[in-house]
Amino acid sequence: MNTIRADRSGLHDDLDAVEGLAGWLGFPVDDGDLAAFRALRQALRDLAAVLTDDTRAIAAGRDLDRAVAAVNDAVRRAVVWPQIGVVDGELRGHAVTDASPADRVLAATATEAVELFTGAGRLLLRACLAPGCVLYFVQDHPRREWCSPACGNRVRAARHYRRVTSRRVGD
Ligand SMILES: [Zn+2]
Repeated sequence: MNTIRADRSGLHDDLDAVEGLAGWLGFPVDDGDLAAFRALRQALRDLAAVLTDDTRAIAAGRDLDRAVAAVNDAVRRAVVWPQIGVVDGELRGHAVTDASPADRVLAATATEAVELFTGAGRLLLRACLAPGCVLYFVQDHPRREWCSPACGNRVRAARHYRRVTSRRVGD
């Protein structure tokens, strides 16, 4: 979900081209893989937006039904089944799939998303409301308010600036 991020120069998308996805995954991919990963990412961001009541502009236009369908479709892209084999006279179990490497990662990501968005972790999901930030994060301790120390510092600096400037106006 955080392959879209923002800084002072604007929005950055790590998955805006096949090369970006290949770099993220660490192996070659094609246009179909890119489309599938982008669709899954949008679905995950839409679900996070719904769960966090996200009011940021980037979360407008979310579509819950489309998101649910996209996650379920991604999970099914890599069906895995157990097989039994004999190794050195011993019976050994192993998992088999006929999915491509990209589809395996896509399905594994979607499977983790099902756990995150339907398990206890969904209660800890937060939208980062620092100015300009587009990320989501899991609130891993009660006082955590921002996705990163950088966002926290930006918010504190903005508050300080407002305090100083309003004091000057009042003088
Ligand atoms: Zn942030």
